[in-house]
Amino acid sequence: MEETPELCKYKVTIDELRRMKPHTLSPEMEGLLASSQEMASAVEKSFSLLSDADFENPTVRDASGEMVKVSSGRFIPMLESQDVRVRKETFEAYYARYEQYKNTFASLYDGKAKANFFYAKARNYNSSMEAAVDANHVPKEVYYNLIEAVHENMHYMHEYVSLRKKLMGVDELHMYDVYVPVVGDDTEHITYGQAQEEIVNALQVLGEDYVNVLKEGFANRWIDKYENEGKRSGAYSDDCYSVHPYVLMNYQYNLDSEFTLAHEMGHALHSYFSSKRNNIFDSDYKIFVAEVASTCNEALLMDYLRKHTTDKKKKAHLVNYFMQQFRSTLYRQTMFAEFELLTHQMVEKGEALTAEALKKLYYELNVQYYGEDVVVDPEIAIEWARIPHFYYNFYVYQYATSFAASMALSKKILEEGKPAVDRYLNFLSSGCTKPPIELLKDAGVDMTTKEPICEALKTFGALIQEMEELLA
Ligand SMILES: [Zn+2]
Repeated sequence: MEETPELCKYKVTIDELRRMKPHTLSPEMEGLLASSQEMASAVEKSFSLLSDADFENPTVRDASGEMVKVSSGRFIPMLESQDVRVRKETFEAYYARYEQYKNTFASLYDGKAKANFFYAKARNYNSSMEAAVDANHVPKEVYYNLIEAVHENMHYMHEYVSLRKKLMGVDELHMYDVYVPVVGDDTEHITYGQAQEEIVNALQVLGEDYVNVLKEGFANRWIDKYENEGKRSGAYSDDCYSVHPYVLMNYQYNLDSEFTLAHEMGHALHSYFSSKRNNIFDSDYKIFVAEVASTCNEALLMDYLRKHTTDKKKKAHLVNYFMQQFRSTLYRQTMFAEFELLTHQMVEKGEALTAEALKKLYYELNVQYYGEDVVVDPEIAIEWARIPHFYYNFYVYQYATSFAASMALSKKILEEGKPAVDRYLNFLSSGCTKPPIELLKDAGVDMTTKEPICEALKTFGALIQEMEELLA
């Protein structure tokens, strides 16, 4: 590179190849590993075919008395029903169906965990988790720290559950009661225009450069926003290096959609700035940092809306929404991460992942995470069987770490102003030019320590307090 400067544009790519050298095998062995992938991937394919195609969804009577099929997309919305009968019947019927296939699901999960360990061993790693996080250049301590920090702060989750029980006014809080909004249904109709306007206002704190690109995206059809026949569900952002990013979503006129739009535009602008500053090889950021840019926008929007809302009911809805994010992102995803770690350790010790063993472990984790104020119904023990993310090879912990990192960064942006904004914009423009942990350090948050997780969880504690006061 010193002699031939044209090579410098490949520096990051070459450095990465050199970093992976101890885990790269001879050409013959690499060939063998590559050709084994097709057999190994049959496990995920079978999981997906069983869950999405062959699985017969149960039927439940909804709140209006109509019989509906509980599909995977309808399951959570039905658990959000204000009608306890709908929630209970949905919960029981859906998990009863999974229970029917428990041995098949267990065998698929066992196969996936064994495949992960097979490739980890083949590439000279001590464990499946180490191999997975190293692929993103993340030290394994980050994974352990997350689980430890969440365990040290489990009392907030338990307080949240107690508050939920109190607000719902029930004698027993069940596992089918944890999704329903504690402040009644949110019926506010938010137009797409209003959502755009509020997002632009909320992100003014990131400065003119950021907001101008955001407005450019809104004005120039970067976003396919409404539901349409044959259009896939969910929301995504994807970059097109020499053009601009594109966003696909299904706008639903509610708070959730407004946050989704802010979230996806976070990804889109991260891509935009990283593509603008870097050559095509260095522009693509790693997953570990991707969800920081998106959830930071959500945190800033949340802050803006809370500051600009005087209506008590709307405020309560916002706090409810925010608390749910902590429950579902920091606690739930960490519980998933812990399940993944423990089950892989069982495989590494040569233990069998039977349906009963998986159910026992999953049930015990739920008891620990939810605490004493919830009745941990036996049906929940099979929940792992319906989670496709368990086939993503140690992916979910990043939802929790990203959320914590973006909490810390948004706080700095709001409190420090310009210096923090400059560091953040620099982070957005950095693509994959440095390891993700380094990029985040430069932006102002050190994910090799437990501190950002603990700090984020303090915010959760404050929200619980605020909700108590709002509804007192
Ligand atoms: Zn995202």
